[in-house]
Amino acid sequence: NTEKTEQWIQEYVDGWVEFFKKQTDTGKVADYIPKLEEADPNSLGITIIGKKGTEIRSGDVEHEFSIQSISKVLSFITACMDRGIAYVLQRVDVEPTGEAFNSIMHLEVKGHQRPFNPLVNSGAITTSSLLSGNTSDEKLEPLFQLMEKIIGRRPEIDIDVYVSERDTSMRNRAIGYYLLEEGYLESDLGVTLETYFKQCSINVTTDDLARIGLVLSNDGIHPETEEIIIPRNIVRIAKSLMLTCGMYDASGKFASYVGIPAKSGVSGGILAVVPPRVRENELPFLSGCGIGVFGPALDKQGNSVAGIKLLRHIANSWDLSLF
Ligand code: GLU
Repeated sequence: NTEKTEQWIQEYVDGWVEFFKKQTDTGKVADYIPKLEEADPNSLGITIIGKKGTEIRSGDVEHEFSIQSISKVLSFITACMDRGIAYVLQRVDVEPTGEAFNSIMHLEVKGHQRPFNPLVNSGAITTSSLLSGNTSDEKLEPLFQLMEKIIGRRPEIDIDVYVSERDTSMRNRAIGYYLLEEGYLESDLGVTLETYFKQCSINVTTDDLARIGLVLSNDGIHPETEEIIIPRNIVRIAKSLMLTCGMYDASGKFASYVGIPAKSGVSGGILAVVPPRVRENELPFLSGCGIGVFGPALDKQGNSVAGIKLLRHIANSWDLSLF
């Protein structure tokens, strides 16, 4: 019976991936980092991994792409594990901005003593500065180790993307200088930005994102080894941040229409977390799952056009929304 259900789910997902693949024409591949422009706008892939072992893959799941903003969730988690939640949250808040991810405007909001949240660039760059270590490699080592535990191999940086980003990202430098002036940064600006650009350039697949999502869905516990990889209270904040701030300035819409914590990146990736539902249902994914999506054609906010449509469709037909 389980086999039948899985086969049915597979065919269902295949059908919708094919359908939404043809609906990417309203989107555009990110071009502000020259290297990202090379992506095929018609790609679409999804991996869903359930707590009970069900795994569904469909479309372009072999593709490696840079993790981009999705790394902000991992650097926040790593910083909290390293420095403690209170320390991190004294330096970065947990409030949505309603502004674009790389907005510089909200930084000047009077009376706001720290960047709004770790999932916008100002907060993420500040978070990267909080990671211990004197070099970017030292700072990123715990993040790499955390990822390795989850995805089962040591992650690698796409050097071309890193160089492309480092050499073009004037906006991030501007944000960095502002943060430096305000005294938010805890490490040298050059090292901080290098850390941030490197973490954005880590290569992943939809499988990797689904595995990360599954650990978050499972409150930080590895689904197979049952090791506590991330403390539960940190996972809780990370998921709240994803729900309120994870989809750029479309986070409210995503929470309303899809209703699950998610984080997107400008290379077209989405990491989505489906926490277990109390209500019993025959669908295996209601006991919790992680979802990884790749679809590089982006909408105006910077989210994958086809990826959002696909997630919305699946979440609605399987009743995955938290609400
Ligand atoms: N590397 C990107 C930047 O800071 C990350 C952007 C994103 O994925 O939102 O410009």
